[in-house]
Amino acid sequence: MDLVPKDDSVAWIPLGGLGEIGLNCMALACKGRIMLVDAGSMFPEEKMPGVDVVIPDLRPILKENGGVSGILLTHGHEDHIGALPYLLPSMPEVVLYGTPFTLALVKEKLLEHRIDQLPPMVEVQPGQKVRVEPFEIEFLRVCHSIADGVGLAIRTPKGVILHAGDFKFDPSPVGEEPLDIQSFSRYGQEGVRLLLSDSTNVERPGCSISEKEIKANLEGIFRSCDGRIIISTFASNVQRIREVVELTQHCGRRLYLSGRSMVSMVRLAVELGHLEIPRGSWWMQASWEGLPRSGWWCLPQEVRASPFHPCPSWPLTGTSG
Ligand SMILES: [Zn+2]
Repeated sequence: MDLVPKDDSVAWIPLGGLGEIGLNCMALACKGRIMLVDAGSMFPEEKMPGVDVVIPDLRPILKENGGVSGILLTHGHEDHIGALPYLLPSMPEVVLYGTPFTLALVKEKLLEHRIDQLPPMVEVQPGQKVRVEPFEIEFLRVCHSIADGVGLAIRTPKGVILHAGDFKFDPSPVGEEPLDIQSFSRYGQEGVRLLLSDSTNVERPGCSISEKEIKANLEGIFRSCDGRIIISTFASNVQRIREVVELTQHCGRRLYLSGRSMVSMVRLAVELGHLEIPRGSWWMQASWEGLPRSGWWCLPQEVRASPFHPCPSWPLTGTSG
């Protein structure tokens, strides 16, 4: 059966990411054309020895069709962009659409995989519309644990599809704008044919706490602790890193970054204006040796998320006090 309709009916084809963490990739097809939303990877499970990375299988949609014309990227987490280096060679005509921070992460990833011939990329801002025939897409700002996340309002011949991206409602994010609830409700009033909404722990009652509250908790720790403070966070959580940077400055501490992805993420965030760190106020630290008592050391937790990457060893002597 051909999954891609030739007429103006619309097929929404999940290729991964439903009921699982990672592998987010969905295809939207109409009039013989295919567009993807995200192209994420997944860490292998324990029953997959010898597998380094899991990627979506595009063969069902690429068979007997002209190819994918565009990929909309909601944000730069691995589970949304991690498969691009592996999938792009099968999509020679594709154009990538994403916000500046997301596309900057994509470029880094492709260059890291020695893909010199980068595909065309169209930078978009929240509130902006683009056409990827036969669809029109508006990018809507959302709050997430990475900068520059967006949801998508996709106008199709059969009505509007609203894809929320990864999001949380945070009334007081630190240094980022809140979720654009007015635009989401505008589409709600107009009428949404299909809502795709996914938020981790959505089954649990209650609300996640605001970044403002997290910063206040961190400040309490900074003010009550005399020695070193070691903080582990996802390298891509620029908002959280900004909170720590501000606290190190307010409390007269020194900032140490550890890990390649943490250093490169901070560099990108500074270049794109998501983070301000005065020159000379942070250092890279390769080992615990010689780390001063009042420093901040950060481990990029992303590396530790893979079952085949054990936690780094934590020396227990000569480091405390
Ligand atoms: Zn995410």
